[in-house]
Amino acid sequence: MNQDLEKLIELDKIGQEISRLKDEIATLPRKVAEIEAKLNTAKSQVEAAKSAIKSQEANKRKFESDIQDWQQKISKFREQSLSVKTNEQYKALMTEIEFAEKHIGECEEKILVGMESSSALNADLQKAEAELKAENAEIEKEKAHVKAVTAEDEKKLAELSRQREGIRSGVDSAMLSHFERIATKRKGAIAEAFDQKCSACNVMLRPQKFNELLSGNGSATCDSCGRILYADPNRQANKGPSKSNEKVWYFLPGAEENSGRFALFANSKGSCSVRTFDAVTGRSLEKAVKKKLGFREAFADMFANALHLHPEHLDMHQDFDDQLPADVLEEFQLQAHISPVPTAQ
Ligand SMILES: [Zn+2]
Repeated sequence: MNQDLEKLIELDKIGQEISRLKDEIATLPRKVAEIEAKLNTAKSQVEAAKSAIKSQEANKRKFESDIQDWQQKISKFREQSLSVKTNEQYKALMTEIEFAEKHIGECEEKILVGMESSSALNADLQKAEAELKAENAEIEKEKAHVKAVTAEDEKKLAELSRQREGIRSGVDSAMLSHFERIATKRKGAIAEAFDQKCSACNVMLRPQKFNELLSGNGSATCDSCGRILYADPNRQANKGPSKSNEKVWYFLPGAEENSGRFALFANSKGSCSVRTFDAVTGRSLEKAVKKKLGFREAFADMFANALHLHPEHLDMHQDFDDQLPADVLEEFQLQAHISPVPTAQ
Protein backbone atom coordinates (compact mmCIF):
# COMPACT_ATOMS: atom_id res chain seq x y z
CA MET A 1 0.00 0.00 0.00
CA ASN A 2 1.39 3.41 -0.78
CA GLN A 3 2.54 5.56 2.09
CA ASP A 4 0.14 8.44 1.46
CA LEU A 5 -2.75 6.02 1.70
CA GLU A 6 -1.48 4.63 4.98
CA LYS A 7 -1.31 8.15 6.34
CA LEU A 8 -4.81 8.92 5.11
CA ILE A 9 -6.14 5.81 6.88
CA GLU A 10 -4.48 7.10 10.04
CA LEU A 11 -5.96 10.57 9.44
CA ASP A 12 -9.38 9.01 8.91
CA LYS A 13 -9.20 7.19 12.23
CA ILE A 14 -8.04 10.34 14.00
CA GLY A 15 -10.78 12.38 12.34
CA GLN A 16 -13.46 9.96 13.48
CA GLU A 17 -12.12 9.94 17.02
CA ILE A 18 -12.04 13.75 17.02
CA SER A 19 -15.67 13.96 15.99
CA ARG A 20 -16.63 11.36 18.59
CA LEU A 21 -14.88 13.38 21.29
CA LYS A 22 -16.55 16.61 20.14
CA ASP A 23 -19.96 14.93 20.24
CA GLU A 24 -19.25 13.65 23.73
CA ILE A 25 -18.19 17.09 24.96
CA ALA A 26 -21.36 18.57 23.49
CA THR A 27 -23.71 16.01 25.08
CA LEU A 28 -22.19 15.98 28.58
CA PRO A 29 -23.87 19.19 29.86
CA ARG A 30 -27.27 17.79 28.86
CA LYS A 31 -27.02 15.19 31.63
CA VAL A 32 -26.41 17.92 34.18
CA ALA A 33 -29.47 19.79 32.89
CA GLU A 34 -31.60 16.67 33.24
CA ILE A 35 -30.59 16.20 36.86
CA GLU A 36 -31.11 19.92 37.49
CA ALA A 37 -34.71 19.54 36.30
CA LYS A 38 -35.20 16.64 38.73
CA LEU A 39 -33.64 18.74 41.45
CA ASN A 40 -36.14 21.54 40.81
CA THR A 41 -39.03 19.10 41.03
CA ALA A 42 -37.73 17.84 44.38
CA LYS A 43 -37.35 21.43 45.61
CA SER A 44 -40.92 22.35 44.72
CA GLN A 45 -42.20 19.15 46.37
CA VAL A 46 -40.46 20.17 49.60
CA GLU A 47 -41.95 23.67 49.35
CA ALA A 48 -45.44 22.27 48.72
CA ALA A 49 -45.21 19.92 51.71
CA LYS A 50 -44.00 22.74 53.98
CA SER A 51 -46.77 25.12 52.99
CA ALA A 52 -49.42 22.39 53.42
CA ILE A 53 -48.14 21.80 56.96
CA LYS A 54 -48.21 25.55 57.67
CA SER A 55 -51.81 25.98 56.59
CA GLN A 56 -52.76 22.89 58.60
CA GLU A 57 -51.23 24.49 61.71
CA ALA A 58 -53.02 27.79 61.04
CA ASN A 59 -56.33 25.92 60.83
CA LYS A 60 -55.66 24.19 64.11
CA ARG A 61 -54.95 27.51 65.87
CA LYS A 62 -58.16 28.98 64.47
CA PHE A 63 -60.27 26.06 65.76
CA GLU A 64 -58.60 26.30 69.17
CA SER A 65 -59.39 29.98 69.44
CA ASP A 66 -62.99 29.31 68.32
CA ILE A 67 -63.31 26.76 71.13
CA GLN A 68 -62.11 29.36 73.65
CA ASP A 69 -64.67 31.87 72.35
CA TRP A 70 -67.52 29.39 72.66
CA GLN A 71 -66.35 28.39 76.15
CA GLN A 72 -66.38 32.02 77.26
CA LYS A 73 -69.89 32.41 75.92
CA ILE A 74 -70.99 29.32 77.85
CA SER A 75 -69.57 30.73 81.13
CA LYS A 76 -71.40 33.96 80.48
CA PHE A 77 -74.71 32.13 79.82
CA ARG A 78 -74.29 30.09 83.02
CA GLU A 79 -73.75 33.30 85.07
CA GLN A 80 -76.83 34.88 83.49
CA SER A 81 -78.88 31.75 84.23
CA LEU A 82 -78.38 32.34 87.99
CA SER A 83 -80.24 35.61 87.83
CA VAL A 84 -83.08 34.93 85.34
CA LYS A 85 -86.64 35.65 86.39
CA THR A 86 -88.72 33.40 84.14
CA ASN A 87 -88.68 29.84 83.01
CA GLU A 88 -88.66 30.98 79.35
CA GLN A 89 -85.52 33.05 79.90
CA TYR A 90 -83.85 30.08 81.57
CA LYS A 91 -84.81 27.73 78.73
CA ALA A 92 -83.49 30.19 76.13
CA LEU A 93 -80.11 30.33 77.88
CA MET A 94 -79.93 26.52 78.03
CA THR A 95 -80.60 26.38 74.28
CA GLU A 96 -77.74 28.86 73.70
CA ILE A 97 -75.39 26.71 75.83
CA GLU A 98 -76.38 23.58 73.95
CA PHE A 99 -75.72 25.39 70.66
CA ALA A 100 -72.24 26.50 71.84
CA GLU A 101 -71.34 23.00 73.03
CA LYS A 102 -72.31 21.58 69.66
CA HIS A 103 -69.91 24.07 67.99
CA ILE A 104 -67.11 23.13 70.39
CA GLY A 105 -67.63 19.46 69.54
CA GLU A 106 -67.39 20.25 65.84
CA CYS A 107 -64.15 22.21 66.31
CA GLU A 108 -62.61 19.38 68.35
CA GLU A 109 -63.55 16.91 65.62
CA LYS A 110 -61.87 19.10 62.97
CA ILE A 111 -58.70 19.38 65.08
CA LEU A 112 -58.53 15.57 65.34
CA VAL A 113 -58.95 15.11 61.59
CA GLY A 114 -56.28 17.76 61.03
CA MET A 115 -53.83 15.97 63.32
CA GLU A 116 -54.23 12.77 61.33
CA SER A 117 -53.58 14.47 58.00
CA SER A 118 -50.65 16.42 59.42
CA SER A 119 -48.80 13.20 60.23
CA ALA A 120 -49.24 12.19 56.57
CA LEU A 121 -48.00 15.63 55.50
CA ASN A 122 -44.92 15.28 57.69
CA ALA A 123 -44.14 11.92 56.09
CA ASP A 124 -44.46 13.58 52.65
CA LEU A 125 -42.09 16.32 53.71
CA GLN A 126 -39.51 13.84 54.97
CA LYS A 127 -39.68 11.88 51.74
CA ALA A 128 -39.35 15.02 49.60
CA GLU A 129 -36.42 16.25 51.68
CA ALA A 130 -34.64 12.91 51.33
CA GLU A 131 -35.14 13.05 47.55
CA LEU A 132 -33.82 16.58 47.43
CA LYS A 133 -30.74 15.54 49.37
CA ALA A 134 -30.11 12.62 47.01
CA GLU A 135 -30.56 14.82 43.90
CA ASN A 136 -28.20 17.39 45.38
CA ALA A 137 -25.56 14.74 45.93
CA GLU A 138 -26.11 13.32 42.45
CA ILE A 139 -25.77 16.65 40.72
CA GLU A 140 -22.54 17.42 42.52
CA LYS A 141 -21.18 14.03 41.50
CA GLU A 142 -22.36 14.45 37.89
CA LYS A 143 -20.90 17.95 37.65
CA ALA A 144 -17.56 16.67 38.87
CA HIS A 145 -17.78 13.75 36.42
CA VAL A 146 -18.63 16.03 33.47
CA LYS A 147 -15.80 18.34 34.37
CA ALA A 148 -13.31 15.48 34.58
CA VAL A 149 -14.44 13.79 31.36
CA THR A 150 -14.52 17.10 29.47
CA ALA A 151 -11.02 17.94 30.61
CA GLU A 152 -9.83 14.47 29.61
CA ASP A 153 -11.56 14.71 26.21
CA GLU A 154 -10.09 18.13 25.56
CA LYS A 155 -6.64 16.84 26.38
CA LYS A 156 -7.15 13.95 23.94
CA LEU A 157 -8.51 16.36 21.32
CA ALA A 158 -5.45 18.57 21.58
CA GLU A 159 -3.18 15.55 21.27
CA LEU A 160 -5.12 14.20 18.26
CA SER A 161 -5.12 17.59 16.54
CA ARG A 162 -1.37 17.75 17.03
CA GLN A 163 -0.96 14.24 15.56
CA ARG A 164 -3.23 15.14 12.67
CA GLU A 165 -1.19 18.20 11.78
CA GLY A 166 1.96 16.10 11.84
CA ILE A 167 0.54 13.49 9.48
CA ARG A 168 -1.11 16.03 7.15
CA SER A 169 2.17 17.81 6.51
CA GLY A 170 3.58 14.59 5.05
CA VAL A 171 0.73 13.75 2.64
CA ASP A 172 0.54 14.68 -1.03
CA SER A 173 -1.53 17.86 -1.14
CA ALA A 174 -3.88 16.82 -3.97
CA MET A 175 -4.71 13.58 -2.18
CA LEU A 176 -5.12 15.41 1.09
CA SER A 177 -7.59 17.91 -0.31
CA HIS A 178 -9.59 15.11 -1.94
CA PHE A 179 -9.60 13.25 1.36
CA GLU A 180 -10.76 16.28 3.29
CA ARG A 181 -13.55 17.01 0.85
CA ILE A 182 -14.94 13.51 1.47
CA ALA A 183 -14.27 13.62 5.20
CA THR A 184 -16.55 16.63 5.62
CA LYS A 185 -19.40 14.76 3.94
CA ARG A 186 -18.98 11.17 5.08
CA LYS A 187 -18.28 9.45 8.33
CA GLY A 188 -15.12 7.61 7.39
CA ALA A 189 -13.49 8.91 4.21
CA ILE A 190 -11.54 5.72 3.56
CA ALA A 191 -12.95 2.28 2.91
CA GLU A 192 -11.50 -1.11 2.26
CA ALA A 193 -12.19 -2.67 -1.11
CA PHE A 194 -12.90 -6.29 -0.38
CA ASP A 195 -14.38 -8.99 -2.52
CA GLN A 196 -14.43 -6.48 -5.38
CA LYS A 197 -16.76 -4.19 -3.44
CA CYS A 198 -16.53 -0.95 -1.49
CA SER A 199 -16.98 -2.16 2.09
CA ALA A 200 -18.66 1.13 3.08
CA CYS A 201 -21.46 1.22 0.51
CA ASN A 202 -21.23 -2.34 -0.90
CA VAL A 203 -21.28 -1.24 -4.52
CA MET A 204 -19.25 -3.42 -6.88
CA LEU A 205 -16.03 -2.05 -8.39
CA ARG A 206 -14.98 -2.53 -11.98
CA PRO A 207 -12.58 -5.52 -12.12
CA GLN A 208 -9.77 -3.40 -13.56
CA LYS A 209 -10.02 -0.87 -10.77
CA PHE A 210 -10.08 -3.59 -8.14
CA ASN A 211 -7.03 -5.33 -9.64
CA GLU A 212 -5.13 -2.04 -9.71
CA LEU A 213 -5.90 -1.57 -6.05
CA LEU A 214 -4.79 -5.09 -5.24
CA SER A 215 -1.51 -4.64 -7.05
CA GLY A 216 -0.98 -1.47 -5.03
CA ASN A 217 -0.82 0.80 -8.06
CA GLY A 218 -2.25 4.20 -7.36
CA SER A 219 -5.39 4.97 -5.44
CA ALA A 220 -8.98 4.77 -6.42
CA THR A 221 -12.24 6.18 -5.22
CA CYS A 222 -15.57 4.45 -5.01
CA ASP A 223 -17.79 5.56 -7.91
CA SER A 224 -20.81 5.32 -5.70
CA CYS A 225 -19.90 6.93 -2.37
CA GLY A 226 -16.66 8.73 -3.33
CA ARG A 227 -14.63 7.23 -0.51
CA ILE A 228 -10.93 6.60 -1.07
CA LEU A 229 -10.38 2.87 -1.43
CA TYR A 230 -7.58 0.59 -0.42
CA ALA A 231 -7.21 -3.16 -0.73
CA ASP A 232 -5.28 -5.67 1.30
CA PRO A 233 -4.04 -8.48 -0.99
CA ASN A 234 -3.49 -10.80 2.00
CA ARG A 235 -7.07 -10.60 3.09
CA GLN A 236 -8.39 -11.31 -0.40
CA ALA A 237 -6.12 -14.37 -0.58
CA ASN A 238 -7.56 -15.79 2.65
CA LYS A 239 -11.03 -15.64 1.30
CA GLY A 240 -11.11 -19.33 0.44
CA PRO A 241 -10.57 -21.32 -2.67
CA SER A 242 -14.05 -21.75 -3.96
CA LYS A 243 -16.63 -19.10 -4.66
CA SER A 244 -19.32 -21.74 -4.77
CA ASN A 245 -18.97 -22.38 -1.02
CA GLU A 246 -18.82 -18.75 -0.04
CA LYS A 247 -20.18 -17.75 3.37
CA VAL A 248 -20.35 -14.14 4.51
CA TRP A 249 -21.73 -12.33 7.49
CA TYR A 250 -23.46 -8.97 7.29
CA PHE A 251 -25.10 -6.65 9.75
CA LEU A 252 -28.51 -5.41 8.56
CA PRO A 253 -29.43 -2.29 10.57
CA GLY A 254 -33.00 -1.99 11.87
CA ALA A 255 -35.23 1.07 11.75
CA GLU A 256 -34.72 1.77 15.45
CA GLU A 257 -31.45 2.71 17.00
CA ASN A 258 -29.57 -0.28 18.43
CA SER A 259 -31.54 -2.81 16.44
CA GLY A 260 -31.04 -4.98 13.43
CA ARG A 261 -30.05 -8.47 12.36
CA PHE A 262 -26.87 -10.37 11.76
CA ALA A 263 -27.20 -12.33 8.54
CA LEU A 264 -25.21 -15.30 7.32
CA PHE A 265 -25.36 -15.54 3.53
CA ALA A 266 -24.12 -18.73 1.97
CA ASN A 267 -23.72 -20.09 -1.53
CA SER A 268 -23.60 -23.80 -2.08
CA LYS A 269 -23.94 -25.93 -5.18
CA GLY A 270 -27.04 -24.82 -7.04
CA SER A 271 -28.61 -22.82 -4.24
CA CYS A 272 -28.06 -20.10 -1.70
CA SER A 273 -29.40 -19.29 1.72
CA VAL A 274 -29.62 -16.62 4.36
CA ARG A 275 -30.06 -17.05 8.08
CA THR A 276 -30.75 -14.11 10.36
CA PHE A 277 -30.18 -13.53 14.07
CA ASP A 278 -31.37 -10.72 16.28
CA ALA A 279 -28.47 -8.28 16.69
CA VAL A 280 -29.21 -7.54 20.35
CA THR A 281 -30.02 -11.02 21.68
CA GLY A 282 -28.36 -13.25 19.07
CA ARG A 283 -31.51 -15.38 18.81
CA SER A 284 -32.21 -17.09 15.51
CA LEU A 285 -34.93 -15.34 13.48
CA GLU A 286 -35.43 -16.95 10.10
CA LYS A 287 -33.92 -18.89 7.27
CA ALA A 288 -34.54 -18.63 3.54
CA VAL A 289 -33.22 -20.75 0.67
CA LYS A 290 -33.30 -19.94 -3.05
CA LYS A 291 -32.34 -22.25 -5.88
CA LYS A 292 -30.25 -21.50 -8.97
CA LEU A 293 -29.08 -18.11 -7.76
CA GLY A 294 -26.15 -16.68 -5.82
CA PHE A 295 -27.10 -14.92 -2.58
CA ARG A 296 -26.08 -11.50 -3.91
CA GLU A 297 -28.76 -11.74 -6.60
CA ALA A 298 -31.29 -13.72 -4.63
CA PHE A 299 -31.28 -11.42 -1.58
CA ALA A 300 -30.12 -8.20 -3.30
CA ASP A 301 -32.63 -6.06 -1.38
CA MET A 302 -31.10 -7.10 1.96
CA PHE A 303 -27.75 -5.61 1.05
CA ALA A 304 -29.05 -2.04 0.84
CA ASN A 305 -27.56 -0.71 4.11
CA ALA A 306 -25.72 -3.86 5.06
CA LEU A 307 -22.39 -3.77 6.82
CA HIS A 308 -19.86 -6.46 6.04
CA LEU A 309 -18.72 -8.24 9.21
CA HIS A 310 -15.30 -9.79 9.64
CA PRO A 311 -15.48 -12.94 11.76
CA GLU A 312 -12.17 -14.28 10.41
CA HIS A 313 -10.49 -14.91 13.71
CA LEU A 314 -13.52 -16.59 15.29
CA ASP A 315 -14.31 -20.26 15.14
CA MET A 316 -17.18 -20.22 12.69
CA HIS A 317 -17.65 -23.98 12.59
CA GLN A 318 -20.04 -23.85 15.46
CA ASP A 319 -23.63 -24.77 15.90
CA PHE A 320 -25.81 -21.73 15.19
CA ASP A 321 -29.19 -23.43 15.44
CA ASP A 322 -31.10 -21.21 17.85
CA GLN A 323 -28.59 -18.80 19.20
CA LEU A 324 -25.31 -17.20 18.18
CA PRO A 325 -22.50 -18.30 20.52
CA ALA A 326 -21.54 -15.57 23.00
CA ASP A 327 -18.10 -14.84 21.51
CA VAL A 328 -19.48 -14.51 17.97
CA LEU A 329 -22.34 -12.28 19.11
CA GLU A 330 -20.00 -10.08 21.11
CA GLU A 331 -17.59 -9.63 18.21
CA PHE A 332 -20.40 -8.79 15.77
CA GLN A 333 -21.98 -6.32 18.20
CA LEU A 334 -18.62 -4.59 18.50
CA GLN A 335 -18.25 -4.35 14.74
CA ALA A 336 -21.83 -3.17 14.25
CA HIS A 337 -21.84 -0.79 17.25
CA ILE A 338 -24.77 -2.61 18.81
CA SER A 339 -25.22 -2.56 22.55
CA PRO A 340 -26.08 -5.97 24.08
CA VAL A 341 -28.77 -4.34 26.22
CA PRO A 342 -31.98 -3.23 24.46
CA THR A 343 -32.36 0.58 24.52
CA ALA A 344 -35.06 1.86 26.86
CA GLN A 345 -38.20 2.94 25.08
ZN1 LIG B 1 -18.47 3.18 -1.79
